[in-house]
Amino acid sequence: MSLPWLSDLQTRLDAALHEQRLGHAPLITGPQGVGKQQLAEWLVARILCLEPGSGQACGQCRSCQLLASASHPDFFPVAIPEDKKEIPVDAIRSLSQNLVLTPSIGTHRVGLIEVAEAMNINAANALLKTLEEPADNAWLVLVSHQPGRLPATIRSRCQPITVHPPARELALQWLADACPGFDASKRLQALSLSAEAPLAARELLEDDGLEFGLEILEALQAVARGHPVTSVANDRWWQSPEQTWRWLAVWSRVMMRHAHGFDSDEQQPIAQKLPSGLDQRALAELWQQALSGRAMASSTVRQDLFVTKWLLEWEAMIHRGNST
Ligand SMILES: [Zn+2]
Repeated sequence: MSLPWLSDLQTRLDAALHEQRLGHAPLITGPQGVGKQQLAEWLVARILCLEPGSGQACGQCRSCQLLASASHPDFFPVAIPEDKKEIPVDAIRSLSQNLVLTPSIGTHRVGLIEVAEAMNINAANALLKTLEEPADNAWLVLVSHQPGRLPATIRSRCQPITVHPPARELALQWLADACPGFDASKRLQALSLSAEAPLAARELLEDDGLEFGLEILEALQAVARGHPVTSVANDRWWQSPEQTWRWLAVWSRVMMRHAHGFDSDEQQPIAQKLPSGLDQRALAELWQQALSGRAMASSTVRQDLFVTKWLLEWEAMIHRGNST
């Protein structure tokens, strides 16, 4: 499914590629669920395509076909390994070694680092070397929703490309096509809770996401009322840790915005159910932790331990708030 709000950016990127104005290390940033990964994949395909005449990858040439079958010899994606919480240095070293070789098919080799902020310090240092001495014909596309966590030395060597959430009307139109089984008020609520990010809103709606989210909201309220942390979570939390983290991030964000008086009409009734007057910095920290938790949710690392730790910090924050 194409994402209509990306088309302006895609047109500009295509022109920049034609005119050789695009730096060889674009860093795609923006909130979660706005289509950064989709834009990155589009860009990779556009760079590797042998006949990108129409403003995008042709979808037909040998390069496009190999990319579609995930067997392109000049494409090197890097993600967090399944059994890890971060991108290790080996992954970046192997990427760097691959990028300097001669392209097999066309004229370029492309690396893609998903969740770039998940690189550990050694990995980031190894990447810095590659960025300082870029190989001819090599491209490195980085994706990050927390670019502030990347070393400044890396950011300064990348060309920033920011994906913003689309106007609400466009987002709702797209959501109506993407999630026709939901009524308009549910779609609006999901979009609002997702900071206007349409893909995030779609995820909230799918798999009874909203119901689960409200369950997690109730758990946060229960802890705030003094229920023990160990009593509020149930098996579903661990079966779908990504959703659990997503909702912990959503509710942290709603509380942060509420504290600053920024909540939208749709969010206000929900925010009022949560404790107010909380330590802003601690809240922001919890939000960051939930985002990080989500990024590593597919790993085999024990999610229940991390979520419980998060809930204990939430509990401690409430106690601090009550005692001042
Ligand atoms: Zn092509």
